[in-house]
Amino acid sequence: MTLLRSGSATDTGLVRSVNQDLAVETPTLFAVADGMGGHAGGEVAARLAVDALAAAFGRQPTGAGLSEAVTEANTVVWQHSQDNPDLRGMGTTLTAVALVHENGKDVLALVNVGDSRSYRFHEGAVTQITTDHSLAEEMVRSGELTSAEAAVHPHRHILTRALGVSSDVAVDLWRIQPVRGDRYLLCSDGLTNELDSAQMGEVLSSVNDPERAAELLVQAARTHGGSDNITVVVVDVVVGEDDDAAPVVAAVNADFAPMPGTADDGSAVAPEVYPESVAEAAPPSRGERRRAKRRERRIARGRRLITFRTLLFIILVGAVVAGALYAVRWYDTNSYFVRVTNNELVIYQGRIGGFLWYHPVEVDRTGVTTADVPAPYVDALNAGVEETSPAAARAYVSNLVNDKASQQNPATLTTPTTVIPPPVTTTTKGKGT
Ligand code: MG
Repeated sequence: MTLLRSGSATDTGLVRSVNQDLAVETPTLFAVADGMGGHAGGEVAARLAVDALAAAFGRQPTGAGLSEAVTEANTVVWQHSQDNPDLRGMGTTLTAVALVHENGKDVLALVNVGDSRSYRFHEGAVTQITTDHSLAEEMVRSGELTSAEAAVHPHRHILTRALGVSSDVAVDLWRIQPVRGDRYLLCSDGLTNELDSAQMGEVLSSVNDPERAAELLVQAARTHGGSDNITVVVVDVVVGEDDDAAPVVAAVNADFAPMPGTADDGSAVAPEVYPESVAEAAPPSRGERRRAKRRERRIARGRRLITFRTLLFIILVGAVVAGALYAVRWYDTNSYFVRVTNNELVIYQGRIGGFLWYHPVEVDRTGVTTADVPAPYVDALNAGVEETSPAAARAYVSNLVNDKASQQNPATLTTPTTVIPPPVTTTTKGKGT
């Protein structure tokens, strides 16, 4: 007797504007579909696929029935895209697990097409059951890439298999013995792009409630970037078929599942490569595949460009601020004035009353008092008289002294007297020194 309980969560993420993922939870069937295709194509493909899957599995609830249900879902999505030119090229990933009864025993049947994933959490360890049907994963299998390189490879989102992009599809099928305490994690690539299996294991080992665990995993993927739609289904085996046996998934897979790239009957199927987001009719031509790769490269360049533009922006803002500060400083220090302080004419550098955070700085005490200059100038000198340089300020003071002396005794003058007009530029506003 096997009992399952489950929980799920889905989120649009932080970059996409719509959520094209779908989660399925019924008492015995659980699935994640990640739709793709322009406009509404991805949502339509995912919805058609999970509805067809559930209906077909309901008619034949066995392992083979689950695999055939995926094939039937493929036909439904493919036919719909052929009948609706706007939806040409739509498709979806699909991974599902179902509780079935075969040969007198409960069995978990698990299927996959695409790069959504199913994991098994058994005795504290997370094991990936499914194999991604992506170009990067094919390159790992052929030895061209390591797993670490594939995880960040620009072609990791180019799928080699998906539902609805061709009239037929090869389905990977596993049969696994249910063991009490095991958890199964089904998820879209929005989760696996952001979290590694160790991070998933931390949540699965510490959060009992499957709904809460699913929510926390989705939240963690958002925190790590949320670059895609994120969907998680967690299925717990509450009561297992045979608690004494703990089969290894890989062995079960080797016994029951066709190898990737083969059809159910074991015949070889050439992988169909097509880009996840392209909206043209499928299967794609060689030219379409090349264009898809070019687009991936453009996207990668765009990400670098954004970083460069951000840096450039910061530099420009810094340059503008520095330029403004320099202009303020220049405006302030390029000005002088003469003003009476403690009855003495003093030459200052700066603006009368100060400018912004700059206060006038004393340059020279002339030793000339208000008694040494003509009385009509004293009021202006109390307020401050601007000059363009220290030399000009000294000449101005000198001329005032000469003017006063000539008024008192014109005959004693030995140097020509400069006639100084009353100062025009004065101010009485602002702070004093
Ligand atoms: Mg996705």
